[in-house]
Amino acid sequence: MASIFSKIVAGEIPCYKVAETDNCFAFLDINPVVRGHVLCIPKQEVDYIFDLDDPLYDELFAFAHRVARAVKQVCPCRKVGMAVLGLEVPHAHVHLIPMQNEGDMNFHHHVQLTPDEFSTLADQLAKAFQ
Ligand code: 5GP
Repeated sequence: MASIFSKIVAGEIPCYKVAETDNCFAFLDINPVVRGHVLCIPKQEVDYIFDLDDPLYDELFAFAHRVARAVKQVCPCRKVGMAVLGLEVPHAHVHLIPMQNEGDMNFHHHVQLTPDEFSTLADQLAKAFQ
């Protein structure tokens, strides 16, 4: 059965899309730990990130690099943090999180955004992605 993220890539489940390349996809996390929390995924459905083949692994991190620059440009922060957990969704993904301090990388803390706020943010990030 396709993962929830494969369904997002296929357009079967909606998302707030940020960026897309031939092999990678980025969208806003639906339950963000801070405003600007983005997930970067390979389109290929592989559960464990360290099981990706070398070219796709490198491509995913190069893609996340580009997305992180857009996050830094749009979301005021000291740095963009990166984390890989993957315990909830069995489809490899990199979390990008704009940080003011270490506490912003707290996966037990969440912020609420309205659909309009998600949508505006995704548009801003998409425009800033190069
Ligand atoms: P992890 O697998 O790294 O522990 O966490 C999975 C992340 O995916 C969580 O931050 C969660 O909020 C996010 N997530 C789970 N389901 C969906 C979904 O359907 N849409 C979006 N945009 N994010 C999701």
